[in-house]
Amino acid sequence: MKILIVGGGGREHALAWRLNKSPKVTSILCAPGNPGMANVARCIPIKAEDIDGQVRLAKDERPHLVIIGPEVPLAMGLADKLRMADIPVFGPSKAAAQLESSKGFSKDLMKACGVPTAEYGRFTDAAEAKAFLDKFSAPYVLKADGLAAGKGVVIAETREEAESSIDDMLAGQFGESSAELVIEEFMHGEEASFFALTDGNTAVALAGAQDHKRVGDGDTGVNTGGMGAYSPAPILDADMQERVMTEIVNPTIKGMRDMGIPYTGVLYVGLMIGPDGNPRVVEYNCRFGDPECQVIMARLKGEILPLMLACATGFDLADCRRPERFEDAAVCVVMATNGYPAAYEKGSVIKRLDEAEASAEGVVVFHAGTAEKNGEIVAAGGRVLGVTALADTITDAIDKAYKAVDKVDWPEGFYRSDIGWRAKGRG
Ligand code: ATP
Repeated sequence: MKILIVGGGGREHALAWRLNKSPKVTSILCAPGNPGMANVARCIPIKAEDIDGQVRLAKDERPHLVIIGPEVPLAMGLADKLRMADIPVFGPSKAAAQLESSKGFSKDLMKACGVPTAEYGRFTDAAEAKAFLDKFSAPYVLKADGLAAGKGVVIAETREEAESSIDDMLAGQFGESSAELVIEEFMHGEEASFFALTDGNTAVALAGAQDHKRVGDGDTGVNTGGMGAYSPAPILDADMQERVMTEIVNPTIKGMRDMGIPYTGVLYVGLMIGPDGNPRVVEYNCRFGDPECQVIMARLKGEILPLMLACATGFDLADCRRPERFEDAAVCVVMATNGYPAAYEKGSVIKRLDEAEASAEGVVVFHAGTAEKNGEIVAAGGRVLGVTALADTITDAIDKAYKAVDKVDWPEGFYRSDIGWRAKGRG
């Protein structure tokens, strides 16, 4: 089978790496891909957001399955255009991707189908938004309705800060994305990510993970796209996963279907497990997390291709069993360019990646923001590598991942030294 993967980050590298192990896969194309993916796939320099270019490529190549990695092409309707061309695609339609691309839409859906989440209101008027703050005490949670590359959420510590953020956001701080705001109750607890696959009717649980959003050790500093992840997440034990399926995933899938907007692909549920032990939804995403995908793909022993095909075609997902065969634990340490997530230089040379991968069995270095220049791998983005390790325990996976990180020769890069601290503390 021929597979086309849209995207070129660590998440897409992990998908390509996993699918390359499937005996049914004969070739993998990636657009645009990256130098790491070039080891397992043919990379074609078409940007993920170039919808017409991606559709042209798919029509020329006629893959048996297209997997769309990032959220932006999904929100732009790439899956719809591919389906119109009769090409099977793993990923939701533009309308269904509103679960991620409109926070207001997702909150209304949760309310309509009884999915537990924070109390909220939707606003386009500053005075009404400010008055709504009376319902809550600090900290206040303000969210741009639309996609804002993970930057559209403000947690304001004071009322003054909240009111001035309301003015800034409605005045266009995040462009069209903040023309509408969601204001919600602050939820206390522990965050975790849960992934389920669905064909629009049936959903199967995949796995749980936790990531580290802040740039600095001890979960300090500004938010990033994610500095590392691990799976499994101790807080998402079998009972909790079952609750999340029953109380959140299944009602969401049914709610979308009942609205006439069936949701297919992977449903990523961002959860807050409260001090009372109950899970509530922080957000939905309509694609795999990055770097959560790296640890889940690393852990997966069984085949994921039949499940993805079933999600894409609507056939047989009910007959596909949840992949039971997972390795015990995986950890991904992200290496980023100095300065990230603020301004950073591109072009620094990265060496000894082979040594890092060879440092122990079960280590794989996923590329995210890399490029090839004069035969060398250079940094070409903020988050550059995802050094990932498998082991019998989270503690061993952490040790292995950091030993591999030590091998990488890249003075212009940095990483957090405490990925997995929460899980290690429990284990
Ligand atoms: P990303 O795509 O980067 O995950 P996002 O911009 O889509 O983020 P959310 O996931 O909704 O936004 O929020 C970002 C972070 O803000 C959450 O991971 C969580 O830490 C915090 N947060 C959001 N909503 C709440 C809430 N109601 N209570 C407490 N914390 C919250």
